Amino acid sequence: MPALNPEELDGGILYHDAQVTFVERLVVENALASRAAGADIRTYARVERIVLDGNQVRGVVVRNVRSGTTETLHASAIVNAAGPWVDRVLAGADCPMPRFMGPTKGTHIVVHRFPGMSDVACYAEARSDGRPFFILPWNGLVLIGTTDTRCDADPASVHAEEGEIAWLLAEAGHVFPHAGLGRESVLYAYSGLRPLPRQGLRKTAAITRRHQIRHHGRTARGLYSVIGGKITTYRHLAEEAVDQVVQRLGIKAPPCTTAGLALPGGGGDRAAILAGLAGVPGLGKPSAVHLADVYGVRAPAVAALTSGQPDLAEAICPFSGAIAAEVVFAVRHEFATGMADILLRRCMAGLGPDLGRAALDRALPVAARHLGWDAMRLRTERQDCEAEIRVLASRPLPAPGSAA
Ligand SMILES: Cc1cc2nc3c(=O)[nH]c(=O)nc-3n(C[C@H](O)[C@H](O)[C@H](O)COP(=O)(O)OP(=O)(O)OC[C@H]3O[C@@H](n4cnc5c(N)ncnc54)[C@H](O)[C@@H]3O)c2cc1C
Repeated sequence: MPALNPEELDGGILYHDAQVTFVERLVVENALASRAAGADIRTYARVERIVLDGNQVRGVVVRNVRSGTTETLHASAIVNAAGPWVDRVLAGADCPMPRFMGPTKGTHIVVHRFPGMSDVACYAEARSDGRPFFILPWNGLVLIGTTDTRCDADPASVHAEEGEIAWLLAEAGHVFPHAGLGRESVLYAYSGLRPLPRQGLRKTAAITRRHQIRHHGRTARGLYSVIGGKITTYRHLAEEAVDQVVQRLGIKAPPCTTAGLALPGGGGDRAAILAGLAGVPGLGKPSAVHLADVYGVRAPAVAALTSGQPDLAEAICPFSGAIAAEVVFAVRHEFATGMADILLRRCMAGLGPDLGRAALDRALPVAARHLGWDAMRLRTERQDCEAEIRVLASRPLPAPGSAA
């Protein structure tokens, strides 16, 4: 790490860890695996009420936030796995519920790679308050974060604030003083709330990162709330939750096998996948690499859409190499309902340095040609997608039709 600031540097340690490049894909892959195992997946379905009969749960009232339709789903067990929204979901129960959550907000910034940035991640502790943060090679860019501050705001409303961006720039700039990091270096920033338990501790770093699964036995038998939980430990947490439910319902179930199962795109040999994709007419090498990295063993299924439809092999994103076929694939096979889903949460072109703006221009005509979206739909989809991009963008979007 030659660009590291040598000032007051006593030494370093090297350790190994794992990185999930796109957590959005992890969610999609889990949804696909669940569907294959018999689950009914509903996106944009917001639980508005938990229905009780005495102290026994009977189901939930769900509103589709896109169509506005409401329905009641019946169940004798409900797992409230709404992360930082857990208390908000409980507020919709037919009886008073305790509050469990004490979320903290974390903000990241994304910048271009800078001279001296090495291929390994850098862990550092902030000069100002000793808080740990990372400077990570990620998605061809550099991810810097995170902050950690208490926050009781609506999780859907949180966004990066200038003070947080300035803090991250100053601290990363101290670690890599020749990186030339300034406000203009920030390509985009994003924030989220950690679903931590409510604890009266002064330091946010001291709040436990362990999870709990609470059964609301007295007030709402059959209702479980998941408090805490990390991406790293999600499989274990899910297994614990399902085991609890199965045990309390008195169901005889075989032992859980998911710990040893690959996700639908997982497993397989990357070199073999790439070799297979090399024979796809019109598919460029960067696009083949992108498909292999994003879809794993499912990449050939995406590429198969280009057969007889050569326009679908064309790249729609100059940065990620994402191709037109992914627009169709996301809607037909991965639950995507609109362009923001497609770019930001399926093909991942939306997390490149331009937040998918170039891909948006190219993906809309693809949706018109292959998904039948009419002019009005295209206009709405553009507006909705740009609105989501605007939340992440650290600079305003150029006006439509401008050269910028
Ligand atoms: C800045 C930051 C950095 C992090 N870094 C790491 C890390 O390095 N490693 C790690 O392992 N973890 C990390 N985490 C933690 C990790 O992101 C979370 O623990 C994880 O996302 C929790 O997953 P979840 O599914 O429980 O909740 P979420 O991912 O928050 O999902 C909850 C879901 O519930 C949905 N929902 C909300 N209300 C309703 C409703 N009424 N009806 C239906 N659905 C609803 C939401 O739309 C959302 O999709 C980090 C978190 C943050 C904020």
